Amino acid sequence: MKTKLRRGLASSLLGLAVLAGCSTNPITGRSQLVGLVSESEAIQGSAQAYQQMMADLDKKQKIEKSGDKDSARARKTHEISDRLIAQAIKFRPDSASWRWEVQVINDPKTVNAFCMAGGKMAIYTGMWEQLKATDDELAQVMGHEISHALLDHTRERMSVARSTSLGVSLLGAVAGIGSAGGQAMDAAAQLAVTLPNSRESEAEADAVGIQLAAHAGYDPKSAVTLWEKMAKVGGGGPMEFLSTHPAPENRAAKLKELGAKLEPVYLAAKASPPAAHRYVNVPAVPLGGVKPSPAAKN
Ligand SMILES: [Zn+2]
Repeated sequence: MKTKLRRGLASSLLGLAVLAGCSTNPITGRSQLVGLVSESEAIQGSAQAYQQMMADLDKKQKIEKSGDKDSARARKTHEISDRLIAQAIKFRPDSASWRWEVQVINDPKTVNAFCMAGGKMAIYTGMWEQLKATDDELAQVMGHEISHALLDHTRERMSVARSTSLGVSLLGAVAGIGSAGGQAMDAAAQLAVTLPNSRESEAEADAVGIQLAAHAGYDPKSAVTLWEKMAKVGGGGPMEFLSTHPAPENRAAKLKELGAKLEPVYLAAKASPPAAHRYVNVPAVPLGGVKPSPAAKN
């Protein structure tokens, strides 16, 4: 019920987005509606919404922890994320200062994953239980999600969500949190992960995601099998992921073509994998600890 309400609201908000300011994305060259939400607002709002969401799920014991029994999935997710983030930082160097996080949400019926602005990620256990995703396919999902964040798509959707005062007050009501001040930004961040991406954004995230994955040593052919599996499972019932990631035209054909070009990159990365480095869920530097480098400033 709540999801339906959000989807209905999402489409009305998209229709009201004309008031938002546009700017050109330096990576894609595409004009995006991001003007109503600054980069730091998007990152801060997302971090707060993420923390709240994960704290609620943790109370319900729905977060898989890497130290627990049966947590091979959490450990694998950390490893895949770390390898992808190493490539994400090469693609967009300022993302090195993001506080990357990933959690595995124990919800076997939900096939979904997301990455908010600033690198706050989650993947649902339905990816394994329903989709039977392989490690390579999981890397494609995560690579695709990370690309949405790198390309400012999350901020774009937050801007859409914020584009009218009507939207902002409705957001507060629907998300069940207050709409005043900074809380409106949390609500926008929370709603942004339930808004559908445009087909254009999808094509961009597909193209960047498969590249990140290939450079991290994950088989580009798995991008095609991933979406085939999604379509099969999605046809049988409600599918969170497909509702927020509508298929761009010729997705399979484009991914096949890109995949063939990336084959040598993938084989080289697989033959000599880059040294492992931990990026996700790294604890904050304690007060009085090492000062952040000047490069990390804004
Ligand atoms: Zn997408």
